[in-house]
Amino acid sequence: MLKYDLIIIGGGPAGMMAGFIASQNKNNKILIIDRNKSFGRKLSLTGKGRCNITHNEMDFKKMIQYYNSEGGKFLFSGFSKFGVKETLNFFKKNGLDLKVERGNRYFPKEGDSQSVIDFFEKNLKKDNIDIFYSSKVTKLNVKNKKIINIELSDDRVVSASNYIIASGGKSYPITGSDGLIFDLIKKAGHNISDLTPALVPLKCKEEWIKKLSGLSLKNVSLKIKGSKKSIFGEMLFTHFGVSGPIVLNISNTVVKMISTKDVILCLDLKPALTLKALDLRLQRDFDKYANHDFKNSLNDLLPQNLIKEIIKLSGISFHKKVHQVTKEERLKLAKVIKNIEITISGHLGFETAIVTSGGIDLKEVDQKNMKSKILDNVYFCGEVLNIDGKTGGYNLQACWTTGFIAGSNFTNNVDKK
Ligand SMILES: Cc1cc2nc3c(=O)[nH]c(=O)nc-3n(C[C@H](O)[C@H](O)[C@H](O)COP(=O)(O)OP(=O)(O)OC[C@H]3O[C@@H](n4cnc5c(N)ncnc54)[C@H](O)[C@@H]3O)c2cc1C
Repeated sequence: MLKYDLIIIGGGPAGMMAGFIASQNKNNKILIIDRNKSFGRKLSLTGKGRCNITHNEMDFKKMIQYYNSEGGKFLFSGFSKFGVKETLNFFKKNGLDLKVERGNRYFPKEGDSQSVIDFFEKNLKKDNIDIFYSSKVTKLNVKNKKIINIELSDDRVVSASNYIIASGGKSYPITGSDGLIFDLIKKAGHNISDLTPALVPLKCKEEWIKKLSGLSLKNVSLKIKGSKKSIFGEMLFTHFGVSGPIVLNISNTVVKMISTKDVILCLDLKPALTLKALDLRLQRDFDKYANHDFKNSLNDLLPQNLIKEIIKLSGISFHKKVHQVTKEERLKLAKVIKNIEITISGHLGFETAIVTSGGIDLKEVDQKNMKSKILDNVYFCGEVLNIDGKTGGYNLQACWTTGFIAGSNFTNNVDKK
């Protein structure tokens, strides 16, 4: 049986970072296993193929607000050791230049996601690292609170003194992270908090929205009906409902609510204007187009293909002239523009979710070193943990941080031998 100092399960961003760091100590004999025929299959899709590697937020106290609350608290100490600043330095020092773009998002300066994968693969081709591609971990054999060996789909059995589990979540299963390994981890003694799709497009009941599929709305805001908190940004109408950054970012909460009740989202098309300011703006536009058909008076304010639907929702007759619209009707119109209700009927599930909410119970992992509190020779990093972030590079940052800590902690242990 092949025996290593460390076996890393999963060659995604978290596993590759852990491998890079752990292999700095040449004495460490490391094996990285991935069920795909190459590393970073999911990473290749990130940032629409360009890899939004992290977010330009150096204050880790602010940074943690962009994660689920347990995840943010858990990452606090990790960010103080290896946060965004250290991540940027790491890539620069090792030869991958990054640049910041609109929305404070970092991307590779040249190339795309593949250049990030190439960067790691180049750095992981070392004498002290073995790689098993196309090999799936099918069993974790545990004895006396330790993994003693693991069984692979190709009938091999391999063993190590330590294991880093970086097998990802359950979303986008075609990339290899299908979540089946959670059953093995559970059998080994860990609790797994509920797994639900997060950052996932939402289905809606309103047919008119689906008919406007492809319409992208910028600078709008969205909130769950009854909630005070709204999020601002860009969204998209699709043939099944709604998507785009602000929908994805609100989806986690919606997915959890929808199993028990209908969820209604309120879309504000003009969040920068108060109702009063919007009414004044409508009055100015109505003065400008006083003798036109009412339906032609909103061209300056709203996207062309949305006007018909907004008028329908306002209940004002299409055939009125602008000067025939009453004050009450105008106020109703302003209210509609600031509060379009969208009835959410479902979501697109794990198949298309960008991340997984839930994972290894964080109470069972030491945040200082990513070590399991249940199994003596096991570490976790990346999305397999109950950590999920908003869009904008936060999820990959959690992988760099936890991967670095798991990998460097393992190195420290070996140094102490
Ligand atoms: C379309 C899309 C776009 C995204 N864009 C961004 C973005 O721009 N910025 C951002 O921050 N985040 C983005 N994300 C999220 C980000 O990609 C993930 O959070 C990240 O890849 C998680 O990394 P990981 O290493 O924990 O897991 P993964 O990347 O899922 O890697 C886990 C690896 O483990 C392997 N594995 C699993 N089970 C086994 C097993 N039993 N045996 C052997 N191997 C196994 C899998 O094959 C996989 O390669 C995006 C996700 C998607 C789907």
